[in-house]
Amino acid sequence: DLAAKNLKHYLIFTPEMERESSANFNLVNDIPKALSRNEFFLCYQPKIDLFTNQVSSIEALIRWNHPRLGLVPPNDFIEYIETTTFIDDITRWVIKKSLDSIILMEKINIQMDIAVNVPLKLLEHEKFFDFLSDLKSSGKPINKIQFEIIERDLVKDFEATSSLILKYKDLGIRFALDDFGTGYSTLSYLQQLPLDKIKIDRLFIKNLKTDKKDSDIVKSSIDIAHILNLKVVAEGVEDRKSLDILKKMGCDFAQGYYFTKPVVYEKFIDWYKNYTENHQ
Ligand code: C2E
Ligand code: MG
Ligand code: MG
Ligand code: MG
Repeated sequence: DLAAKNLKHYLIFTPEMERESSANFNLVNDIPKALSRNEFFLCYQPKIDLFTNQVSSIEALIRWNHPRLGLVPPNDFIEYIETTTFIDDITRWVIKKSLDSIILMEKINIQMDIAVNVPLKLLEHEKFFDFLSDLKSSGKPINKIQFEIIERDLVKDFEATSSLILKYKDLGIRFALDDFGTGYSTLSYLQQLPLDKIKIDRLFIKNLKTDKKDSDIVKSSIDIAHILNLKVVAEGVEDRKSLDILKKMGCDFAQGYYFTKPVVYEKFIDWYKNYTENHQ
């Protein structure tokens, strides 16, 4: 069909991709159909404010219920479509679904911001900006949407990236830098980019309790971020002890299995009600 033809047209195959198993190759070809057949769904995971213990916002994480392969995690397909126009379609879909959830929650008196993972490249697409601008004009609460961009996507031209980010911030969208600590050797860009938050990668949180180097890195990252007026989220918090260490270090927010795994909307609401009842 037409969508499949378009995909072939836009896909850029790298030698690396060719070396991938045919399973992954077929996965990419299944994506156009997947969107129209409603095979994607979102899970939500909360970020907890470590000063108030309240849920501060949630992150939308995509899942693919593949007809043959079952549940496919985003790491198995997102990177393959980031060079195709389908990343545009999928990201729009994620944003629309997230806005639906924000509105549903407003109806039951839950005020919630939702963070969406967005490849930096996509911000350059005029059509993507227009899509958000139109949503705003039609009254959608896009000021409750945050974008998470990954450190690996940052290029050297920080001035261009800054103005790009500012353009979206003018619409009311806030920005977090995802996977902090995994992609860059210099911190100077932190000072130059108009970000709101950094998310320290799980890699550094995992062994926080036992590894002195990791805990030093986390503590310094928090201090540097605060000097630059950025809030800090710790990713991948799985236990109480790590949480306590992060609180002592002055970390602002935590996200991880310790609170809950990412879950579908209905399950999230159940979790949220139970959590807030126990954390008044
Ligand atoms: P991310 O944005 O850094 O998201 C955090 C990942 O860590 C999620 O994996 C989440 O399930 C996982 N996680 C959260 N807490 C814990 C924990 O305590 N322990 C462990 N071991 N893992 C934890 P997930 O959902 O598989 O997503 C992986 C990556 O795929 C994301 O990393 C993000 O880069 C990408 N991704 C997910 N959804 C989307 C999307 O809608 N669009 C785009 N462009 N990328 C997405
Ligand atoms: Mg993220
Ligand atoms: Mg991350
Ligand atoms: Mg990641």
